[in-house]
Amino acid sequence: MTMICHHLQTVTRRLASACVRAGRPVGSVQLLAVSKTQPADAVRDAWAAGQNAFGENYVAEAEAKMAALADLRGELTWHLIGPLQANKTRVVAECFDWVHSVDRLRIAQRLSEQRPATLAPLQVCLQVNISGEDSKSGVSPADLPALAEAVAALPRLKLRGLMVIPAPADDLASQRTPLRATHELLDDLNTRGLGLDTLSMGMSADLEAAVLEGATLVRIGTAIFGSRAARAEVAPAG
Ligand SMILES: *Cc1c(COP(=O)(O)O)cnc(C)c1O
Repeated sequence: MTMICHHLQTVTRRLASACVRAGRPVGSVQLLAVSKTQPADAVRDAWAAGQNAFGENYVAEAEAKMAALADLRGELTWHLIGPLQANKTRVVAECFDWVHSVDRLRIAQRLSEQRPATLAPLQVCLQVNISGEDSKSGVSPADLPALAEAVAALPRLKLRGLMVIPAPADDLASQRTPLRATHELLDDLNTRGLGLDTLSMGMSADLEAAVLEGATLVRIGTAIFGSRAARAEVAPAG
């Protein structure tokens, strides 16, 4: 058994006990394996261990990895979770299944215009700057309703929900606060009839808090693939 397979089993157990603790059905939270900075072979190992959904942050890096894994096309689902520049939207519209990091209308419009008619609509989450950090991407909670209404109206996108990366916190209670606020934002949008079903929140360090606050998809990198510190500086930008 590979190390990645072993780690995947550990994360799956963590996820299951978090679901039990939250009183939610085991299996009600999707696991997204965040493979940024990891080689294509690591994705292949994870796929061989039963993992299908992968998250990437850098468009150029993801493109190269998809090419190296072309034999698995149709088996893998690719999610862009990193910041997206306007000049990269075409590749993203053509190659990805999901984008979690949409935070302005211009990007969403380009993705909708550029999504090929032969593919299913691009599945989209809006990234919310839930901790109000100047350095973070994401739409502010105040601007979220207008953006959500506009994105939901775009023909080639399917708005699914919200994504957040809260400021790091050590204890469970502090981790839960911004995640609960995100869930409330989703509920608020749904009272407007948007029909959103996805809360993309929870990483290696706050998976348990996220499941307690209603995450439907957790994005896990280091707990599956190990540290990426050694490779981070060779990762292509963008
Ligand atoms: C890197 C990354 C993750 C995974 O983080 P880990 O702490 O390695 O689990 C999740 N979401 C986003 C947006 C990321 O950039």
